[in-house]
Amino acid sequence: MKYCFGPVPSRRLGLSLGVDILPLKTCNLNCIYCELGPGAKYTCERGDYAPVELIKRDLESAVSGAGEFDTLTFTASGEPTLHLRLGEMLSFAKTLTDRPLAVLTNATLLSDPAVREELAQADILLPSLDSVIPGRFRKINRPAPCVRIEGVIDGLIKLKKETGAVMWLEVLFVRGVNDLDEDVVALKEAIAAIRPDKVQINTVSRPPAERWPAPVSEERLYEIRRKLGCTAEVIADFKRPPLPENTGAATEAGIVNILIRRPLTFEDILIFTGMDAGMLKETLEGMERSGTIKCKVFDDRPFYFPCDRVE
Ligand code: SF4
Repeated sequence: MKYCFGPVPSRRLGLSLGVDILPLKTCNLNCIYCELGPGAKYTCERGDYAPVELIKRDLESAVSGAGEFDTLTFTASGEPTLHLRLGEMLSFAKTLTDRPLAVLTNATLLSDPAVREELAQADILLPSLDSVIPGRFRKINRPAPCVRIEGVIDGLIKLKKETGAVMWLEVLFVRGVNDLDEDVVALKEAIAAIRPDKVQINTVSRPPAERWPAPVSEERLYEIRRKLGCTAEVIADFKRPPLPENTGAATEAGIVNILIRRPLTFEDILIFTGMDAGMLKETLEGMERSGTIKCKVFDDRPFYFPCDRVE
């Protein structure tokens, strides 16, 4: 399947069956920590970027073949709300499963009432907001010229007021970029206006788009959590449950299908595939020899990537 993947263990969503509705890095931001690699095909226009009929067909097969999963998650190799027919796909997904429907978004298009109306169909909204100080927002998220932080905050406030969905706002801190006290004070003010159900604090934990972004220490993250108040939580490492059988993950194609979307360590792939460690080692070595994947070290840990993603 081209447009669906998993179920994959997610720290925030349990076992998440993913739907990826855009071609690689179709986005209006180019975040310094993006796991999709450097560069951006910036666009601010909503469009029919991927064939909805094929996505629906994949969705039907994925839901019927996935076995147990906790959430059906709309994500993208970019910003999902850029797909003009997101609303139609969400309505269709609701007819397939009674599992909660989650949508990840960078929140940049929320000032558009049509986008908010479409997102109102979701059960869980996962917007991100890394800085509300314009200069820092530009430094960490590198927005296209059409994106303004004031519009992002206003859109988040309106979305929370208009929808009954649960909202978990993710803030990703990068050392020396958006983790100073003044960042936290400004963020706290915006959060008070947005009123998300949870604020989920994160830091760089996988190889980022650029070489230099560094993670914030655990101690500082917990300090920030205390400053942000009782709705805030640090997203700790998730003790992943075993995957159900027959997800199709324990194959080379299954491994590539997930690596396209995020770099993974050997241990991640082990959990994702449910394969025996020896067999996985042989499989990954074979894939490296054939030029399908490569390995690169980040933060002292080796991560696997699809070959065309590594310089
Ligand atoms: S992290 Fe998300 S929002 Fe940022 S550039 Fe990558 S795809 Fe776009």
